[in-house]
Amino acid sequence: MSENPKDATELEWDSPLYREAVAQFDRVADRMSLDSNIQSRLRTPQRALSVTFPFRRDEYDTVETVFGYRVQHLLTMGPTKGGIRYAHDVNLGEVAALAMLMTWKCAIVGLPFGGAKGGVRIDPRALSRAEVQRVTRRYTMEIINFIGPDQDIPAPDLGTDEHVMGWVMDTYSTHVGHSEPAVVTGKPPALGGTVARREATGRGLVSLLPAAATHVGLKIDGARVAIQGFGNVGQFAALACEQLGCKVIAVTDVTGGLFDESGLDVEKVMAFVEETGGLVGFPDADAMDPAELFALDCEILIPAAIGGVITAANAADVKAKVVLEGANGPTTGAADDILNSNGVFVVPDVLGNAGGVTVSYFEWVQDLQNYFWSESEIVARLREIMNRAFSEVLDISIREKVDMRTAALMKGIWRVTDAKLARGVYP
Ligand code: GLU
Repeated sequence: MSENPKDATELEWDSPLYREAVAQFDRVADRMSLDSNIQSRLRTPQRALSVTFPFRRDEYDTVETVFGYRVQHLLTMGPTKGGIRYAHDVNLGEVAALAMLMTWKCAIVGLPFGGAKGGVRIDPRALSRAEVQRVTRRYTMEIINFIGPDQDIPAPDLGTDEHVMGWVMDTYSTHVGHSEPAVVTGKPPALGGTVARREATGRGLVSLLPAAATHVGLKIDGARVAIQGFGNVGQFAALACEQLGCKVIAVTDVTGGLFDESGLDVEKVMAFVEETGGLVGFPDADAMDPAELFALDCEILIPAAIGGVITAANAADVKAKVVLEGANGPTTGAADDILNSNGVFVVPDVLGNAGGVTVSYFEWVQDLQNYFWSESEIVARLREIMNRAFSEVLDISIREKVDMRTAALMKGIWRVTDAKLARGVYP
């Protein structure tokens, strides 16, 4: 019985982001004339685990029911890989969409992983550190048979950090009866984490800026940069831009925004955020309404926070020549069309932010071999992998006359398709 892939039902995973991810995949698959059996197979995740569990608040008598998820999109290429996010609105559909994006991302930079993603529906900012630790340990127990160094390897994502990864590693190790650092990446170095993981996504993203700027004829020295999000990705992207000689003129986060036409002192802003938890109140810059960020007069725009922020409603206002996507899924399909027709050069998330998972891969390899690399080795290998992927994607984009997102997805989907065809169907 043959099935038109367009008729496949994804009710289980339905959400705006999942629909967006599938529509994007279908568009590229059609453009590639992808085998319809493969297309239908790749539209839905291979495994999806949904759990609920009790969580005791610091106030001992209060026990809440929490929802958690782990989705593995593709098991063909090796273990699955992807972050765990903590956010008040996480749902199965969002996690499934992000797992699919992880598959393309890993394939684009050539890592031996399929995509996965996990999530817990809590607002980590509203919880104490002890509460975040308890949620993490119980969530890890709920998914413990689903993860492992050669099965599925979590990492940080929105709302989680190296402490959370340390608790995942400790909980898993305690239950299997021996230390198992390779079960998770983005851990503290004391537990087998790698140096330079925290900086990896922002650094990897900005390592593509010189090649992107050359391609569009933009002078980097003095170029003005605006960044949405000042967490892990935004901070290190800002620092890397400054090191290249750009001026970071604006940054925003959930608390507010900062603007300085002559360029912010990024390290000073980072120190302020470390101390106060947000940008609001930073004394040496003007306060800015975060809603104005995308329309700012600048050369480089870096969305480095959440998904779905550049939309049909604001894409036409973007004045930047280059958009570097640090976040996952920051640009909707409709906005993408507007940016492309306005000649904005977009380095898409699946390529641009792949530095994080690339250094996660380095961490996993180091843990499996019990042999650790120096920071300079990691930085050099990251740069090499990112820039090779960028130039391959740029070649595809020129050869096939498509934008960078389509070209990147074509590269990823080709790789996955080759692997699927080589493995065949069992039985
Ligand atoms: N959460 C990051 C991402 O979306 C990193 C995933 C990983 O390192 O496995 O790419």
